[in-house]
Amino acid sequence: MEKIKMTTPIVEMDGDEMTRILWKMIKENLLEPFIDLKTEYYDLGLEKRNETNDQVTVDSALATKKYGVAVKCATITPNAARVEEYGLKEMWKSPNGTIRAILDGTVFRTPIVVKGIEPCVKNWKKPITIARHAYGDVYKNAEMKIPGAGKVELVYTAQDGTQTRELVHQFDGPGVVQGMHNLCGSIESFARSCFNYALDTRQTLWFATKDTISKKYDHTFKDIFQEIFEKEYKEQFDAAGIEYFYTLIDDAVARVMKSEGGYIWACKNYDGDVMSDMISSAFGSLAMMTSVLVSPEGVYEYEAAHGTVQRHYYKHLKGEETSTNSVATIFAWTGALRKRGELDQNQALVEFANKLEKATIDTIESGCMTKDLALITTLEHPTVLNSEDFIKEIAKKL
Ligand code: NAP
Ligand code: MG
Repeated sequence: MEKIKMTTPIVEMDGDEMTRILWKMIKENLLEPFIDLKTEYYDLGLEKRNETNDQVTVDSALATKKYGVAVKCATITPNAARVEEYGLKEMWKSPNGTIRAILDGTVFRTPIVVKGIEPCVKNWKKPITIARHAYGDVYKNAEMKIPGAGKVELVYTAQDGTQTRELVHQFDGPGVVQGMHNLCGSIESFARSCFNYALDTRQTLWFATKDTISKKYDHTFKDIFQEIFEKEYKEQFDAAGIEYFYTLIDDAVARVMKSEGGYIWACKNYDGDVMSDMISSAFGSLAMMTSVLVSPEGVYEYEAAHGTVQRHYYKHLKGEETSTNSVATIFAWTGALRKRGELDQNQALVEFANKLEKATIDTIESGCMTKDLALITTLEHPTVLNSEDFIKEIAKKL
């Protein structure tokens, strides 16, 4: 068989630990035999980040801006223990944070739905995608403990020195106070990323905040979304047969529980943090959750939502057998290959991505899966495979 040709490279960001092992297996067994794989390779493994003073992460993000599509392996976000373990020069920042800041993107997380792994919510038939605004609010707050009676105000000092004040509270006794902010520019980018992704995946978009209580802060989010939608996207949404609607967060939560899925739910930073954990665990497993960072200019970076699966890696290093689920990492690759194919009008590449996803799902639905899924499946007598045999089983189907 002749291998599928690529015209433009995908930016490939390698990573750490068990997912780095899976990465290699996926390339060798599922990609390279079929595709003349063209990638621009960046090693974001912790050793290389340390060696390059994290320049490699910045370079990979800039390359993503240049080419438009990247695929990323899970990476270690260093903490004190990792600084010691790897003898790091510094506690390098989270690569995902660095890449997100450079691309100014929004993260979309979608569960992979297969028969035999049933959501806890029985009416959910299709995936629910969460879009989380990744800037500001409580994540960039200023807080104070108030020791006793006194007045707390918000003060805005304009560049010409004029001040505007708003009373927060006249305290009679001790309490707490918090100030937070967001930027119209960041909210606009968030809105455009959401509208673009909805068009791209042909799914209806929901956005919800608490604007009835937060009449300026949350209401600004609502207004910015509405304005951009009407000016730039309404016609395209109509043509695609999809909708955008805004509703109160309470109403959104109630509707989500009663829905059958198949839409994108855009959330403010805190709501997205909390709701994405709810959605992923209710759909079955973190190992079945994909993630894509989309910039307002339409640059895409695909990855798995889970981490480097450290505990499995240590078993692997000891020579013990592992049964680590590679599905989300495979889907990161298929997402990137499909997008590359669409941008380059390379139909063979798009079809290959679809077939690899189907082979992966069919493998699980035929009863062959890794241990994490075997523990929760409703299929009877599943066959539990190790990390490598699961990938080889998919290759057979493919
Ligand atoms: P994790 O790698 O997501 O794994 C947590 C646990 O979830 C695992 O121990 C395993 O449970 C289960 N699990 C996750 N993915 C699995 C898979 N593919 N197959 C089977 N089981 C899976 O999170 P972590 O252990 O908290 O973090 C490890 C490292 O990943 C950290 O250094 C962190 O900084 C990094 N991280 C990176 C990213 C990213 O790059 N996007 C995201 C999150 C975390 P059992 O052990 O019970 O089998
Ligand atoms: Mg969280």
